[in-house]
Amino acid sequence: MTDIRVGQGYDVHAFGEGDHVVLGGVRVPHERGVLAHSDGDVVIHALCDALLGALALGDIGVHFPPSDARWKGCDSRVFLRHCQALLAERGWRVGNADVTVVCERPKVAAHAPAMRANLAADLGIEVDAVSIKATTSEKLGFTGRGEGLAAMAVALLVRA
Ligand code: MG
Repeated sequence: MTDIRVGQGYDVHAFGEGDHVVLGGVRVPHERGVLAHSDGDVVIHALCDALLGALALGDIGVHFPPSDARWKGCDSRVFLRHCQALLAERGWRVGNADVTVVCERPKVAAHAPAMRANLAADLGIEVDAVSIKATTSEKLGFTGRGEGLAAMAVALLVRA
């Protein structure tokens, strides 16, 4: 039996109508919203996929299918807490998590402390075990053209 597991996740949402995006459970003002069944929180969706990946339990689409009306407009922190419960039931806790947001705008850095606090609270770990980074893609590709935003996440699980 190993004492650590690692998982990675990736998520994308296209911009659409709206006046804000939700990132790490934080409402970030923006001149666009995102097209999504839930609140379209790419940070949490990528992180959930990292946690599910570490557990080899499939992906977020399996656990929270867009076809299920329960998840329409859903606060993605519900998904994160569910993933936390799944890993805790199996004797794991999150050692640390690291998320990179990729977009030209909105600017993420000012919101990172609140995002880290939300994620740490939902995972039951210290804020210093949760990292939020941000980068542009130098105006290249769909994120560079401002068509949407993406996030990548890595999470380490350790024995609880
Ligand atoms: Mg998503």
